Amino acid sequence: MRVKINASMIQMGLRWLTSGLRDFNVILAEQRLTQSDMVWLSSLSANQRQLNAVDALPVSLYRVHYNTLKVGRGYLDDEEFREIGNKMVMFMEFCHFSRVNETSPILAVGLDDVGYRVFEAGSFDSRMMLVSRGGFSIGTRCNLRKLRMNISSPDDQLRDVTTVLLGDLRYFLKPGVSGIGRVKDYPSTMPLDVVATELLQQKLQPKLVAQWTGLNADEVVRMKRSLLRDTPLVQSQSGRIQAPNKTLAESPLHSLLYLTVYRLLADNPLRRTNARAVVAAHREYVELCKAVGVEASDMISPSNGYQLSNAMKTGDITLTPCSKCKEINARYALKPGRCIWCNH
Ligand SMILES: [Zn+2]
Repeated sequence: MRVKINASMIQMGLRWLTSGLRDFNVILAEQRLTQSDMVWLSSLSANQRQLNAVDALPVSLYRVHYNTLKVGRGYLDDEEFREIGNKMVMFMEFCHFSRVNETSPILAVGLDDVGYRVFEAGSFDSRMMLVSRGGFSIGTRCNLRKLRMNISSPDDQLRDVTTVLLGDLRYFLKPGVSGIGRVKDYPSTMPLDVVATELLQQKLQPKLVAQWTGLNADEVVRMKRSLLRDTPLVQSQSGRIQAPNKTLAESPLHSLLYLTVYRLLADNPLRRTNARAVVAAHREYVELCKAVGVEASDMISPSNGYQLSNAMKTGDITLTPCSKCKEINARYALKPGRCIWCNH
C-alpha cells in the first residue's frame, strides 16, 4: 500500500464540522453519517494509536456514493463553485488512493467501476457537474464501532477490512442498487487453451482448470509443464486442493473475506463459477492481506479460492447474517460453524 487515506479524511471531516453549524448540517446530510458516527470519529481523532491502525487499512472507512451519472451540462454560481471545488479535492483523493494502491475502486472506496471511470476520466467541468448534480457524497456503510483498530495484529486488521467490505456488500445487495458484479467471465468465443493457459499462470491446479474448461486433464498437465519450461517464474506453489468446507473451517475469516471480494466483483456468481472473477478476486484478496501484514502461508491458495467460489454457486456455502449479531458470515449449509463475530 503506497498511500493512506483514513486519518486525513477523518481529520478533514471533523475540521468541516467544527467550522460552523451550517456546514455541520450540510455535511451530516451529505456525508451520510449518523450522530453516533461523529462521536466515534471525534474520539478516534484523539487516540493516536487507533488512528494509526485505521490509517494502515488498505480500504477507506468513508465510501463514495452517487445517485446518477447522467448530469448533462450546466452552470454553477459562485457560491456553488467554491463549495463543489472543496469537495472535488476529497473525491480526487479517493480516486488517487484506489489508483496508486492498485486496488479495485469498489474495494478501496466502495465506488463501482463504472462510476469510478466516469468520474476519474471526466473533464474538470464534468466532474464538477457530477459532484454538484450527480449526488456524489461520502459516508460510511459499516458499523464503525465494530472496528478493532489493533495495528499490531494482522488478524484484527484483516477483520476490520472485512467489516468495511461487508458494509458494502449489504449496501449493494439492497434492491434497486447496482454496481457489483462487473467482472464478466471469459467469453465463450475465447479459445479454451488460451483460458487454460491464463488460469494455469494464475496458479490454479490443472485438475480445476480441466474441470472448468472441459479440456482433457492430461492435456492440461502437459500445458502446465510447457509453461513451466518457458517461464520458470510460474513455479507451482498452488498447494493441495481441499474441500471448500475444510478451507472454511480452517480459515473462516479468510474465506469470508475472499468470498466477499468475489461477490462484489463477480458477474453472476450464484449461477456459474466465474473463473475470471476468481482470478481477479484472489489477486485483490492477496493485496488486502499483504497490506495488513498477513503471511503468505496463512493465505488461501487460488485453487481453494476457486473451490470456495464453486461452493457459493452450488449453495453449499452461503453468506448469511448471524441470527444474533446480524453480521454476515460464510456458512457451510450442511453444518454451520460458529459466528466469527460474536461466537454464537
Ligand atoms: Zn454473530
